[in-house]
Amino acid sequence: MQHKRILVTGGAGFIGSAVVRQLIGETEAEVLNVDKLTYAGNLSSLADARQSNRHHFLQADICDAAAMARAFADFRPDAVMHLAAESHVDRSIDGPAEFIQTNVVGTFTLLDAATAYWRGLDDAARAAFRFHHISTDEVFGSLGDEGMFTEETAYDPRSPYSASKASSDHLVRAWHHTHGLPVVVTNCSNNYGPYHFPEKLIPLVILKAISGQPLPVYGDGSNIRDWLHVEDHARALRLVVDQGVPGETYCVGGNSERTNLQVVHAICDELDAARPRANGESYRSQITYVKDRPGHDFRYAIDTAKIGRELGWTPQESFESGIAGTVRWYLANEAWWSAIHDGSYRGERLGLSIED
Ligand code: NAD
Repeated sequence: MQHKRILVTGGAGFIGSAVVRQLIGETEAEVLNVDKLTYAGNLSSLADARQSNRHHFLQADICDAAAMARAFADFRPDAVMHLAAESHVDRSIDGPAEFIQTNVVGTFTLLDAATAYWRGLDDAARAAFRFHHISTDEVFGSLGDEGMFTEETAYDPRSPYSASKASSDHLVRAWHHTHGLPVVVTNCSNNYGPYHFPEKLIPLVILKAISGQPLPVYGDGSNIRDWLHVEDHARALRLVVDQGVPGETYCVGGNSERTNLQVVHAICDELDAARPRANGESYRSQITYVKDRPGHDFRYAIDTAKIGRELGWTPQESFESGIAGTVRWYLANEAWWSAIHDGSYRGERLGLSIED
């Protein structure tokens, strides 16, 4: 079943914009992109998609119940892909309130509006409807040297960010069990790729490296993350919303565990090849170790057997080629990230409401 009218929340963010670009570029779907345009929302990540008359943009807060009810009534979606969230762990330590508001209260508000709308559909449309909640593997806590997260792993969130995402996952599943809303949930590992906001590790390191600044690595750099290219994640999400079984959860990951230091080395090596430093030294010489983040989870790894077996998904991009492509994308797209650095990307949001 291919959904035709998809309400995407957070479609101006990093992963949401990849989903919207694919939906507009590779399918016939009509998309309502609902985004508040916080500091993390950037319409210039959607320059091509916005040329299409199948992309509609609504600047709205998912915590605004009246706006969400109107969005459902006016657009009449047959699926929701819910990506809007506060997503940066470091910010959740300094200012958790926004995380509780958007990730918990916002998800509740969206669920409430979706359920009221879904109840009013005819039987066939009610059965076909999907509410897809996009979440993180950070809800599972931290692993030691061995083992992997699966769909059965008990929740054990450690940061305000992961605790707020865990809460939202529980709300979504509760709406399925209590009200019968046909939900699917995905928990995914760390994403990387083009259009990633430069506060996150990979773009941060690329941009600091080329401007000659120190490259910060938490602790001794031994923390391990699994990395997935954002375009592979977007493909997994499209499969799950179309073919996932209501009530089910799917773990998504890149089968690419790397220490943070390995990630930084891979970026430096690619930059050494693509843009050698004038003095001939490797970018690795700019690495500096900084005090570890409080409650820093040691290792995440995710078992993707279920989504592979049941939906036939596997990541297509290897970590090495994905990092090389990402480094080269940042080198070639200075206009995109320099508008973030100088703040001019925010100008676009002024006075914006709905756009056809
Ligand atoms: P992001 O921070 O890049 O984008 C979030 C988007 O949501 C932005 O466009 C922002 O404007 C919008 N938004 C925030 N608050 C809103 C609100 N109250 N109402 C409407 N819109 C709002 O995040 P991302 O990295 O693209 O992550 C998207 C989703 O995927 C999140 O739910 C995140 O938890 C999840 N996820 C992310 C990763 C990752 O590595 N980035 C991994 C697994 C899961």
